[in-house]
Amino acid sequence: MDVGFIGLGNMGFPMAARLLDAGHRVTAFDMRRDAVERFVARGAQGAGSVKEVADSVETIFTSLPTPAIVRAVATGPDGVIAGSKVKRFVEMSTTGSKTAVEVGAALRARGITMIDSPVSGGVAGATKGTLAVMVSAPQADFDLLKPLLDQIGKVFFVGEKPGLAQTMKLVNNYLSATALAATSEAMALGAKAGLDASLMCDVINTGSGRNSASQDKFPRSILPGTFDFGFSTGLMTKDLDLCAEESEHLGVPMSVAEAVHALWHKTLDREGADSDFTTIARYVEDQAGVKIRAK
Ligand code: NAD
Repeated sequence: MDVGFIGLGNMGFPMAARLLDAGHRVTAFDMRRDAVERFVARGAQGAGSVKEVADSVETIFTSLPTPAIVRAVATGPDGVIAGSKVKRFVEMSTTGSKTAVEVGAALRARGITMIDSPVSGGVAGATKGTLAVMVSAPQADFDLLKPLLDQIGKVFFVGEKPGLAQTMKLVNNYLSATALAATSEAMALGAKAGLDASLMCDVINTGSGRNSASQDKFPRSILPGTFDFGFSTGLMTKDLDLCAEESEHLGVPMSVAEAVHALWHKTLDREGADSDFTTIARYVEDQAGVKIRAK
């Protein structure tokens, strides 16, 4: 199939590469010229703008940082909405349900169908094709695109209601952010008492405290002190901002989320939006006056 891909970042590049490797012809655009050049070197077609992609293919995938950027790329002047050929917009960024509903409605008014399909599983999952792909879309469009989404990960159709997949994604990321925040505090407590950090991780991962931070983020990026997992503090905090909006909108009190949200904002202030999200452990370490490192 001929497809477009906009946003060749940490997640977009490996996802687009999987479509390319599966034999699809991919026309790609990113604001960063070097990312497009690296992708073209793998056999893709490069484009010079969003509109150029939307003028050349019927199906466009996007993996972009924030709701504001997704709105601009989808419905701004010279956005996807202005394309002459595009029929389907497969949106894999995390934007929250409000943006998905509004962007989907604007595109629908111009005959373009939105396939809301955020993903979870990090850069490693994007590279291996093992992401959780959450989809809300009209059933017929989902059926058409399922073989492509299968290249990207395990596909879950959550319903036809616009934005529902975004809510699913925020539910997941709230838990992921909470696990990383809480595990950082728990590990700092143990380390300050004199426990060995690697030993603590082994115990937790054999016991009932295990979670995605203790199993993956600590061993890979915090215990070795590399802080290079591949997701930014800015984007993690954005997901919690969106979760807070969603909980207010739906009238669901979330007191644990409030505490977690505050800790992520403190990390954002200290480490900056571009820092890796595993630096939340560094913030907790500094507050506690202890390091959580493998010997
Ligand atoms: P990233 O910042 O690495 O990549 C975003 C890419 O979009 C960059 O290459 C950037 O140059 C490009 N871009 C920005 N504005 C653009 C524009 N106007 N036109 C074209 N390209 C533009 O971000 P990421 O980590 O790949 O995340 C992308 C999305 O996926 C986010 O919504 C994020 O929340 C979500 N997500 C990330 C992860 C992860 O582990 N990194 C996991 C699941 C979901």
